[in-house]
Amino acid sequence: MKDILFLNPVFKTMIWGGNKLATEYGYNLPSDNTGECWAVSAHKNGDCTIKNGEFEGKALSWLWDNHKELFGNAAGEVFPLLVKIIDAKTDLSIQVHPDDAYAKANENGALGKTECWYILDCDEDGEIVIGHNAKDKEELKEMIEGNRWQELIRVCPIKKGDFFQIEPGTVHAIKKGTMILETQQNSDITYRLYDYGRLENGKPRELHIDKSIDVIGCPHIDKEVRGKLIRSEECDIEELISCNFYSVQRISMHGEQDFEQSNKFLNISVINGSGVIDGYNVIKGDHFIIPSGYGTYHLKGDMELIVSHI
Ligand code: ZN
Repeated sequence: MKDILFLNPVFKTMIWGGNKLATEYGYNLPSDNTGECWAVSAHKNGDCTIKNGEFEGKALSWLWDNHKELFGNAAGEVFPLLVKIIDAKTDLSIQVHPDDAYAKANENGALGKTECWYILDCDEDGEIVIGHNAKDKEELKEMIEGNRWQELIRVCPIKKGDFFQIEPGTVHAIKKGTMILETQQNSDITYRLYDYGRLENGKPRELHIDKSIDVIGCPHIDKEVRGKLIRSEECDIEELISCNFYSVQRISMHGEQDFEQSNKFLNISVINGSGVIDGYNVIKGDHFIIPSGYGTYHLKGDMELIVSHI
């Protein structure tokens, strides 16, 4: 009988981070400017360990390398997904990611990055950067060279519960006062386009203008997201996105129900409330993986979950 794999997150101190991962999610944080909780990660820069059972203390990357059967013998050298919770106390720099082909050719064979954002919480007048206003590459270059950032960058209002898919080549940035659950390809390749002219230790952070111009899609096209929502007495299940790299759903439990684990593996994050999964008590801030071949699992409680799989 396979066990559910509960994970110990890894925390990252960032100049733009805050302390909401402690006050809202109850984590023990390394600093008062903790920007990221790497909740489901086997990335070398932040490898989660297993909290329970026969693999207690082992890294998720170790499990991927040595017990592929838990992940349905999925192909690939690395665990393919990375789930984070982000607390942005101040604006993040404006960035763009390459796709797999560009990253492979220009970043030593690394993976590109497609990511998606579920807005956990934000300020009343919350905003986010998605896309740009240049009609083609020519105009993009002109605007960048002319420092016409206000004109170029597209800022959109957001509210709690919004969801965005960030395809490679999409200009994007999280803005102050926003908490996000991010599901992404397991990659760290980021090109910084603009940093609001800020200084870190007296110096501007490195920008990657040429690579950014290479990969930014022109014109920007908004990606349609959110599929069907199935409501029932026990739970609501909403399809947020299904793309080549991942599928993400939101489950809102207000009762109990059996579910079938028919994917190679299933990542689950509890983002609100509390409940029980097969005898384990779970609460907001818990993250776990249901392995391949686990079969039926039973959820009960008043809680909201973000679920992802490949
Ligand atoms: Zn990004």
